[in-house]
Amino acid sequence: MRTAATGSAVEQLWDRSALHRSVASMVVGVLVLLWAFLAARGDATFREQIGPLNLAVVGGVLAGAGQGGWLLHGRRRLGRRRRAVHQHLEPLLARHRVAASAPVDSHALVTVAGATRRHRAACLLVAGKPTIPTGDGLVDCEVCRP
Ligand SMILES: [Zn+2]
Repeated sequence: MRTAATGSAVEQLWDRSALHRSVASMVVGVLVLLWAFLAARGDATFREQIGPLNLAVVGGVLAGAGQGGWLLHGRRRLGRRRRAVHQHLEPLLARHRVAASAPVDSHALVTVAGATRRHRAACLLVAGKPTIPTGDGLVDCEVCRP
């Protein structure tokens, strides 16, 4: 799949090889757990169950490693995607930061095209909107009270 914005190929979070590695590790872990269960099920004493218990721990670790590897694989690729999107958006964000940091004459009266109210340039109701200077003839904003 390709993105519309950059035209570059999108890397899937998980591919078949990651799936196969994860499933193989989990299957081996579950088989080891089953083997440990079968080895310990007829033994009544703790001493006889120590070996199968150790085997069960190994099986649990293998199954958990399969799950953890699966999640880390997806997390790593998600981080790469996030960095790629951030690199694409950084020039746009930089332009926005420059525009937002421009000084505003708070006493200047402005309006938005087609609006019926006039505001102070620093009014929150017109912040970030394209404004035009205005004089009399419009209703005063009830928020900024020019
Ligand atoms: Zn206002």
